Amino acid sequence: MTTLTAPPTGTLKSLNPATGEVVGEVPITPIGEIPNIVARARAAQPAWRNLGLEKRMQTLLPVGTQLVDRADHLGRLLMREMGKPLREAVGEINHCGESLEATLREIVDALQPDVLEDDSAKSFVYHDPLGVCVAITPWNFPLSMPHWMVIPALMAGNTVVLKPSEETPLIAQAYVDALNRALPKHVLQIVHGADEQGKALVQADVDLIAFTGSREAGKHILAAASTGLKRVILELGGKDPMIVLEDADIGAAAEFAVRNSFRNAGQVCVSTERIYVADEIADKFQAEVVKLTNEQKVGPGTEEGVTVGPMINRRQRDHVLAQIEDAVKDGARVIAGGEGHHGGFIMPTVLGDVTHEMDIMRSETFGPVACIARFDDVNEAVRLANDTPFGLGAVVFGGDERRTADVARRLDAGMIGINKGCGGATGSPWVGAKQSGFGYHSGKEGHRQFTQPRVVTVAK
Ligand code: NAD
Repeated sequence: MTTLTAPPTGTLKSLNPATGEVVGEVPITPIGEIPNIVARARAAQPAWRNLGLEKRMQTLLPVGTQLVDRADHLGRLLMREMGKPLREAVGEINHCGESLEATLREIVDALQPDVLEDDSAKSFVYHDPLGVCVAITPWNFPLSMPHWMVIPALMAGNTVVLKPSEETPLIAQAYVDALNRALPKHVLQIVHGADEQGKALVQADVDLIAFTGSREAGKHILAAASTGLKRVILELGGKDPMIVLEDADIGAAAEFAVRNSFRNAGQVCVSTERIYVADEIADKFQAEVVKLTNEQKVGPGTEEGVTVGPMINRRQRDHVLAQIEDAVKDGARVIAGGEGHHGGFIMPTVLGDVTHEMDIMRSETFGPVACIARFDDVNEAVRLANDTPFGLGAVVFGGDERRTADVARRLDAGMIGINKGCGGATGSPWVGAKQSGFGYHSGKEGHRQFTQPRVVTVAK
């Protein structure tokens, strides 16, 4: 745990979004303490770098077992703090723990030097650490998001300062504590607070800012980092489209649409936010979506069988409800849900007759809403799907392999799924296009972003 030398300026209370009760609190890191934290990270970096890749891997390896052994306890904390169903919360911990060894080995492979030769020279391209990395993370996957950035940054030989979301400080603190049982002092530190602490870290003497969060905060960070020409990785929001072609498996498409619109109460960067379905199958598809939507169970994550938990906070709840209300005012039709919202909970809602002009089809919703538009010309569906500044994920469902693949290749997103979600096979990068991102996570390209390539060439 980080030891604060200056007195804290207050505490950050973590609230349970299902009940409003206080789950716990952490000391807010005083802004004035941030340069000292970064200085300690810088002082710890040479020894961590000199340990070498293999030994860093051996140091981090036991953390996987620790996470898995404590998955029930940590999952319960994650659920209470963030709201997702217990099964999913425990799943998030287990996934990070169980996959750690494979991830570490993937990073070791990715960071091996490349050797290039021609007639006159032989070059070695090394992947050296950058120095001190800052990771700034959101609340929606409050363990996975820090894990995705902290592990490759550490493995590359950097020291890391993590600034988790102010909504989920407790699970982030538990994660850092687990890693710090294995790591030397000051190799990983945590800063608690909101955007002020994030901004101060971006301004501090750091070498890389790895950020996952909203497009708006990403823009600020890119601008602020530019004054020091600091490296940035930005994983931002999305407005993912789903296209359902007339020969698609309607049952499979509807099942995916419902799952991917309502998972984590829609609070997923690659949630399905817009659905374009071919006219001739639209009635059947819509009926299936409505049937599956009505089977969703809304409630606190502790309740058996719950699939949709609360919104993270009142601001997010109000934003989603306002988008629904505005869309309905402008002619959208509620075909499922749309009422019975209570406390922090929004009932999964399906809207039909949505148009491209509506805010709900243009700005990120991040809530349990499925918006269905119909098309009779697939070119028009592709045009509308691409007509957004976002470009994170996209999905197309279709029967004919070639035609479905052709539509997929015309979608302007970083990750496109065919008859499935947009995530790639093991080793693929997680990547956004357009204003959804600036860099990658995971895969060789992602891991190498935490490094400075250095080319050493010898004459032959
Ligand atoms: P957010 O941008 O409000 O906050 C994210 C983090 O940044 C928090 O820790 C916050 O305190 C900090 N922050 C905010 N403003 C800052 C600034 N100007 N300078 C430095 N730090 C700042 O986002 P959120 O509400 O926590 O998360 C939801 C967003 O994250 C959605 O837009 C979602 O799509 C996106 N997201 C993207 C991915 C991805 O992989 N692309 C994954 C998860 C979430």
